[in-house]
Amino acid sequence: MTIQSINPATGERLRSFEPLSESQIEEKIGRAAETFQRYRLIPVASRAQMMARAAEILEAEKERFGRLMTTEMGKPLRAAVEEAVKCAWNCRFYAEKAAEFLADEVIPTGATRSFVRYQPLGPVLAVMPWNFPFWQVFRFAAPALMAGNVCLLKHASNVPQCALAIEEIFRRAGFSEGAFQTLLIGSDQVERVLDNPRVMAVTLTGSASAGSSVAKAAGERIKKTVLELGGNDPFIVMPSADIEEAARTAVKARVINNGQSCIAAKRFIIAEEIADEFERRFVEGMESLKVGDPMDGTTDIGPLATEDILETLEEQAQETIAQGARVLTGGQRLMRAGYYFAPTVLTDISTDSPAYLEEMFGPVASLFRVRDLDEAIRLANDTTFGLAASAWTNDEKERDRLIDEIDAGLVFINAMVASDPRLPFGGVKSSGYGRELSREGIREFVNIKTVWIKDEPETKLAETE
Ligand code: NAP
Repeated sequence: MTIQSINPATGERLRSFEPLSESQIEEKIGRAAETFQRYRLIPVASRAQMMARAAEILEAEKERFGRLMTTEMGKPLRAAVEEAVKCAWNCRFYAEKAAEFLADEVIPTGATRSFVRYQPLGPVLAVMPWNFPFWQVFRFAAPALMAGNVCLLKHASNVPQCALAIEEIFRRAGFSEGAFQTLLIGSDQVERVLDNPRVMAVTLTGSASAGSSVAKAAGERIKKTVLELGGNDPFIVMPSADIEEAARTAVKARVINNGQSCIAAKRFIIAEEIADEFERRFVEGMESLKVGDPMDGTTDIGPLATEDILETLEEQAQETIAQGARVLTGGQRLMRAGYYFAPTVLTDISTDSPAYLEEMFGPVASLFRVRDLDEAIRLANDTTFGLAASAWTNDEKERDRLIDEIDAGLVFINAMVASDPRLPFGGVKSSGYGRELSREGIREFVNIKTVWIKDEPETKLAETE
């Protein structure tokens, strides 16, 4: 049994689910394919009404959904409730904008009329992670459904109740049963789903290794993929920045979602001139955080989502320390029930240690000191990942160089990185390819159909009649 809800704050097992059998999976894919033939013909305005209804349900029951998220993966309840509200925003955004994003695009050529039409592909599989158990799903599903596709969700095995709750939201909003279905399956069953010729495409949000294996399976079957993978994002602070504001934001940027966010800042790259002050403020900020029960409204950091994640983080930290890193604060798990790790800051990190090379998925920050902007950019780019970057400076020339020279899908200046339905989201290098959100997101899973029409001249038509 691999699909189970375990409360990470206590270690208590809440519910277990038997994975779907092969015939059950086939039945659901069949239902998706049949539904698609009808659903694709529904006008965008009707889809928008259902999507707006999904937004209403999310808002009206945000507390219930928030509690479910917190119970299954441990994020502070406050943040979980905000996540439900953000999903509602995303649903409304696509309900309002889909018609504009998908309108025919006329392109003048030698034809009487030539244009591009955006049409749905069919059933799309989404393999999703647990860290934002609602947001990750809605940011895929809202544009996919508005474009006329139907969705199959394989959610992470530790959040099955969230997966079922999302299916219920779409059903109650008026989408037919086959338009959005949750498949309670393990990762070893994903390839079987992709093997079905009626499944047209796959999007995966998760680790680089999962992305690589799903992309390989999809590539062998010539199916479109979007990959949203991990990151080792830099947070650069230069002397002209507001250091106090940067240090305060740095704490939030590292520990958001208990430190388990792909776009959480992980490597703090600080100009030598201001490094002592930044380090003092940052360490103080990390030490002031309240770690504890995620259901308690005053908690800043809850537990890590699973025991495996806690063990991996602990090993990465221990190995980095064994390779010479200095612990400025924290450095170990907290000895209590549940999967808690102390907010941690490491420095003097060797270039071959896990903290330098790998993504640390928890509240562990790596602090680096650099001489100048050249060194800051070189260090920021010295990673296999390329998801996002936050850079702090009030110098215009520095700002332009950071925007141009950082290899990442998103660069935020004087702010922490955040996703927003209006802006494209995605990475380069091992952080994946393709984009979610905005106009770009809805156009990932469509057939970009070129149409070229030449009208016969009237005289010629008359001769042939
Ligand atoms: P994960 O272990 O890769 O799991 C993600 C999803 O992939 C789960 O549904 C998992 O199923 C499935 N999966 C894992 N291995 C697979 C395989 N070989 N074949 C098919 N499916 C497979 O990642 P995670 O630990 O849940 O999530 C954390 C990672 O996601 C981090 O690296 C984080 O940075 C990344 N992430 C990226 C973004 C982004 O937008 N770029 C957003 C959020 C998270 P099971 O649960 O059944 O194993």
